[in-house]
Amino acid sequence: MSKPMSIKILVLNSGSSSLKYQLIDMTNEEVIAKGLCERIGIKDSVLTYDNRREKIVINKDMKNHEVAIQMVLDMLMDKDKGVIRNINEIGAVGHRVVHGGEKFSKSVVIDNNVLSAINDCIDLAPLHNPANITGIRACKALMPNTPMVAVFDTAFHQTMDKSTYLYAIPYELYEKYSIRKYGFHGTSHKYVASRASAMLGKDIKDLRIITCHLGNGASVCAVKNGKSIDTSMGFTPLAGLVMGTRCGDIDAAIIKFLMEKENFSIDEIDTLINKKSGIFGVSGVSSDFRDVEKKASQHDERSNVALDMFALSVRKFIGQYIVEMGGVDALVFTAGCGENDAAMRKLITRDLSFLGISIDDDKNNVRGQEIDISSSTAKVHTLVIPTNEELAIARETETLVLKR
Ligand code: ADP
Repeated sequence: MSKPMSIKILVLNSGSSSLKYQLIDMTNEEVIAKGLCERIGIKDSVLTYDNRREKIVINKDMKNHEVAIQMVLDMLMDKDKGVIRNINEIGAVGHRVVHGGEKFSKSVVIDNNVLSAINDCIDLAPLHNPANITGIRACKALMPNTPMVAVFDTAFHQTMDKSTYLYAIPYELYEKYSIRKYGFHGTSHKYVASRASAMLGKDIKDLRIITCHLGNGASVCAVKNGKSIDTSMGFTPLAGLVMGTRCGDIDAAIIKFLMEKENFSIDEIDTLINKKSGIFGVSGVSSDFRDVEKKASQHDERSNVALDMFALSVRKFIGQYIVEMGGVDALVFTAGCGENDAAMRKLITRDLSFLGISIDDDKNNVRGQEIDISSSTAKVHTLVIPTNEELAIARETETLVLKR
């Protein structure tokens, strides 16, 4: 097979009823089209399509992912609105896959064995992996000759030590069910850590970096010499930080207590800790930092406490990871809140000059751009780096496909 020097890559992120897509021209890493299919398999499906000249919304039922992907391909190849002439211009497809279990420590070209191994991880991510598999199968049916790559949210964290990833429950349960810490947001942590090393002009192998991915779901990662040595999410994305609607780390005994007192079923308690907790649950206002901050500025006590709890949870992990890495060279903020919320960055980094961390208020007053916001006296570089998981997936895909 001839190897193209530069290709266009379709990046797909399949959810159970949604599909996000981007077509990226790897010549200049430019997004040439992107959009979203929503309500797949439900009534009133919607396709949004942005070819960078105009945004189009199409209301048309998509009974499954194959129909949705076909609609995306039709738009990409549309005579007037399209950005490519035929399907062969798509050199490869990169699929985001949530859980690779212990089987995948890096991205892989998808074949039948890979598909069945992703299938074996369904128990670990019952909501996400089936949707990812559906997306891959649909794509294979429509583009049987196009190489596809799976990029896993968990893969970057497979470098953690056993003493870090095990839980102190009977060891046989780890052996029987693979219950251990996996960590998530790996594509993002890896991407921003590598951007941090580029910004600092230093080899990532010589750096200790703490990356804070603070979106609706949030996690912190300790990246030592380019490898994830610890991260705050666990067996599932529920663990670690206080999040938009997830409780993060709590005493596990609260579950039994609440189930008894409130007569909750397993599903009800699961909804409570995943969807009704976090800054939403504490503030009673919203899962969106902007709403909670607005209320907090009006002296709403619960909103103020919720924001303080979030900041404290990030600070605790920063402290923990400085200990685990024996120091820190760079602290990185990324994702919705990390990139945009200057007030939260200030709250998280306040009074940390004893650790060499201090930020400059003027520099901190930025949004969504790569910048070093450290003060002139800081020993640690505090960086704001917009994440770009789609580009990271496209790069991994290109590397693997061109290597074949
Ligand atoms: P997700 O975690 O869903 O992938 P993002 O990384 O885009 O999403 O983060 C979304 C969250 O980022 C929102 O819930 C919102 O709370 C927060 N956010 C976005 N913009 C701002 C802003 N300007 N100030 C504060 N928070 C923001």
